[in-house]
Amino acid sequence: MYNISMKTITAFMLIAAATLAGCSRTPPERQVIDDAAEALGGAAPVRSATALLLDGGGTNGDLGQNRAPDADLPLFNVSELRHAIDLANRRARRSMNRVEADDPTESDSQNFGWDNGVAYNIDAKGMARRQGDIVARERQAELFLHHPLALVRAALDDGATVSNLRRDGDTTLVDITTSQGEMVTLGVNSETHLPVLARSMFYHPNLGDTLRETTFSDYQAVSGLRLPARMMTRVDRYPVADLTFTRQALNEAIEDISAPSDVRSAEAPTPVANVTVQEVAPGVWWLAGQSHHSVLVEFSDHLKLIEVPQNETRALAVIAKARELRPDKPLTKAVVTHHHFDHSGGIRAAIAEGLTLVTHERNRALFEELAKRPHTIVQDALARNPREARIETVADDMTVKDAMRSMRVFHVIDGTGHSDSMLAVYLPNERILVQGDLFNSQGPNPKRMAIINKRFEELGLRIQRHVPIHGAITPHTEYLKIMRSAQPTAS
Ligand SMILES: [Zn+2]
Repeated sequence: MYNISMKTITAFMLIAAATLAGCSRTPPERQVIDDAAEALGGAAPVRSATALLLDGGGTNGDLGQNRAPDADLPLFNVSELRHAIDLANRRARRSMNRVEADDPTESDSQNFGWDNGVAYNIDAKGMARRQGDIVARERQAELFLHHPLALVRAALDDGATVSNLRRDGDTTLVDITTSQGEMVTLGVNSETHLPVLARSMFYHPNLGDTLRETTFSDYQAVSGLRLPARMMTRVDRYPVADLTFTRQALNEAIEDISAPSDVRSAEAPTPVANVTVQEVAPGVWWLAGQSHHSVLVEFSDHLKLIEVPQNETRALAVIAKARELRPDKPLTKAVVTHHHFDHSGGIRAAIAEGLTLVTHERNRALFEELAKRPHTIVQDALARNPREARIETVADDMTVKDAMRSMRVFHVIDGTGHSDSMLAVYLPNERILVQGDLFNSQGPNPKRMAIINKRFEELGLRIQRHVPIHGAITPHTEYLKIMRSAQPTAS
């Protein structure tokens, strides 16, 4: 029966109007931020927070340096972690000591800063050096906005916008654009309203448009707020950090973490290429000049390059130099020794220049993926000039030969743990070996040199000279001397 009185209808309308008015005062996206601030301890203390100091440790993954493209990243154990966030001035700095878990001889210290858009590194001598804009964009998330206190505080700012409310399981997500124009997605637990994740996109020269996601857990009371004692970060599909804070200090005086004035006034550096040329045998050129070298090999009717390393600036400069040295012969292929990002950083540029890549068969899937990934945040050579990747693979041992040259490309089963999908190149007539990361004259590892030399002997190589991707050209007699210097004498 439709027996609803006018009074009832009016009551309904009043409730509906009140609800709508409530919504227009606080849109649901905004409510997510307000609730998150409340869960952290209240909007007022979040807004007035000035500084946060985090001490702890954990692990760090070495992106782009795994043993094989489908293997886990090598882990560093992190100690002496100190992360200072100057909320009031939009600055952050993180320092840590790192020791590789599987190889304690590999260790370093990092001291990275971000000061309101300017990224800088401080070396062991205390010298600060400005980093490029791509690094600065990543640091803005890594060191600053991917902490829930900094992010919610920024979202509470009058100039910030919050949009795209959605749910994924028990996580409520909103997109925040800070008053500075930075875009970060915040995820909060739908029950507790505590922030559980932050996501943002940044540009990675190898991976292109890349998602960075930091998750927050183990919330604890810190001077009236609740803050996470554990933060884990994933870059694309790779876990790169798992950090635990054993001490958190809120609003204490922190050291000055501003970028030094000479860093701030310096131009943000962009990659530069310096390619030197040395003809090491007729028709064989060593293209050096920086940390990662290449070798150009001439054949009867074409040229082949070994290694297109680092980044597209270096790779394009090396390719241009190769074409300049023998303009009458086409440069057709580039051998890529292994998949590590510093050695494969130029493959997209090489594809854009029409070169076929030659690499170990285990690298194929990764290289095909890298060739296809979107590069819209920064348009690289391949994004500007899209081409299908042509990839040839070597499983074990392959020799290419014509009237002018013989070149052997072989898999190095190095047993040292550096890379399982590593190729090296041998020129039998010139008795030249070209390798990357197996031996570096600037920091030789005799134990590894012995393992690798065994492989050279098994393959019957009669090496006279190492013309390497890293370090200096070294006679093999010198290689053997260094190798034996650390061998225990047989009893
Ligand atoms: Zn490597």
